Amino acid sequence: MIKFWKKRIQNKLLTEHLTHDKTLSEIQKELKNSIAKQFASSLNIRMVDSGSCNACESECNALSNPYYNLERLGIQFVASPRHADVLLVSGVNTFNMHPHLLDAYAQMPSPKYVITIGDCPLTATSVYDESFAIVGNIAKHLPVAHHITGCPPSPNEIIVGLLEFLRGLDRS
Ligand code: SF4
Repeated sequence: MIKFWKKRIQNKLLTEHLTHDKTLSEIQKELKNSIAKQFASSLNIRMVDSGSCNACESECNALSNPYYNLERLGIQFVASPRHADVLLVSGVNTFNMHPHLLDAYAQMPSPKYVITIGDCPLTATSVYDESFAIVGNIAKHLPVAHHITGCPPSPNEIIVGLLEFLRGLDRS
């Protein structure tokens, strides 16, 4: 313990100092304005893991930290699909999770949207496609409005993906 504190005192603070990301700030500003216009400043997301490695979830967790702070923009991750505007789906859509995924979608109030995240939901490009345990391609079972690519996508890419989804709604 003494060794640890000696080392800690010698190295001083180990926390990185953050730099201001101007591009991210501009994207966040547009996202906030779109949410205000299209969802009365409150976009609620229910995330369902349909059989993932959890890396996509970890990246989504980072969106709530003080750096990305998505709640400031009007985005909340909610526990119940009954409170959600968007169903955010990660994973390969396993046989065991498939009915729960459909059930979560059925419980959402309209208008409701499905966004898939990560490469897993598009199992056409995945090594899991032919497994007995996988139902596969979520777009065949739910109306996917937007897909966020990556394995896993970074928090920045997720934010950009959400903005692209909102821009798509703007056009429709
Ligand atoms: S897309 Fe990649 S990171 Fe995301 S759940 Fe699948 S394997 Fe994991």
